[in-house]
Amino acid sequence: MIYLDHAATTPVPRAVADAMYEVLTEQFGNPSSQYPLGLEMKRRVETWRKTVAGALDCEAGQLFFTSCGTEADNWAVTAACWQNRHMGKHIVTTAVEHSAVLESCRWMERQGYEVTYLAPAQDGSISTEQVLAAVRSDTALVSCMLVNNELGSIYPISEIARGLAAKNPKTLLHTDAVQGFLKVPCSAKALGVDFLTISAHKVGGPKGIGALYIGPRVRNPKPLLAGGGQESGLRSGTEATAQIAGFAKAVELRLENPEETLRQMAAVRDYAAERLSAIPDLKILSAPGGAPHVLSVSLVGWPSQNIVNDLGSQGICVSAGSACHQGKPSHVIAALKLPKKVSSGVIRLSFGPETTRADIDACAEALRRHHDTRMPML
Ligand code: PLP
Repeated sequence: MIYLDHAATTPVPRAVADAMYEVLTEQFGNPSSQYPLGLEMKRRVETWRKTVAGALDCEAGQLFFTSCGTEADNWAVTAACWQNRHMGKHIVTTAVEHSAVLESCRWMERQGYEVTYLAPAQDGSISTEQVLAAVRSDTALVSCMLVNNELGSIYPISEIARGLAAKNPKTLLHTDAVQGFLKVPCSAKALGVDFLTISAHKVGGPKGIGALYIGPRVRNPKPLLAGGGQESGLRSGTEATAQIAGFAKAVELRLENPEETLRQMAAVRDYAAERLSAIPDLKILSAPGGAPHVLSVSLVGWPSQNIVNDLGSQGICVSAGSACHQGKPSHVIAALKLPKKVSSGVIRLSFGPETTRADIDACAEALRRHHDTRMPML
């Protein structure tokens, strides 16, 4: 199998699975239990929290584990609106956010909020000026992702934070950094955000565990789940200890040689862009300078779902837009307002530390065969 869909999810290295297995079978205590098995687990969870927080350049006490990136996104949007509920009912976000943010914003609309959805330029970019121009005196929240999951575009979060501080310092800033974490610079402090979302399964960790950074400007954050008081009383529920162990181990592994890993991923992406550009009718959509692990292309005139099926039958995994939108046109690609023949032929290749040039060669050959042997749409 040739797996070129690391933006959808990633394989778990053996060391991560081993760390989880130990927690599931031997160190299985509940961190709230008061005997040694539980106390030891509590100590370990705090050590793992420090590892993940360290990778985000924040304090361990500012990082709260959640069940996934989606949950963290939902929490950030509602907690920000809650904190600023007396100040205004306006949200600024982009039309290319993950549905976890978009649907949270739509839910806030049903609660009486007004939401501005910023359209990207045709290359997928969103500018600081565009974001700041949309901010009003009643803007409670700006939510803008760090890296787009379908295009790899990087958005200017630290610039937006500086601009917001000058224009409307009370507005809170959330960034969904699920695709940016450990792929592009992602220091919560340097980005200047109030909320930041990450998810383990995009960086070699298990599915079912994410985290939300909550910065110092958020006073008394609104708890997400009420109950036994875990996660400092903000997100109750017995800690998913094995998933947290796996998350921390995955982060540790990715941090072993981070520059080299990212350089290698970017080299694979550039090689893919070069190889694929040689295919007739193939257009590269990802703008230069994007995240190292995503390349969006269109085989102009050939429907993407047929490409995904054809390559899939040869053991090559790529996606038509994001995995969350299988079968439906992607809202991200639709927002680019490309000609229909271009937008309907979009596929996303995404890479991990394991991806090789031989994988790219096999994919390029399969795409070329698809182009040469299948009928384009009329
Ligand atoms: N945000 C972005 C940008 C994503 O790419 C994803 C997953 O595809 C999510 C949020 C959701 O993360 P999770 O799968 O952990 O819920």
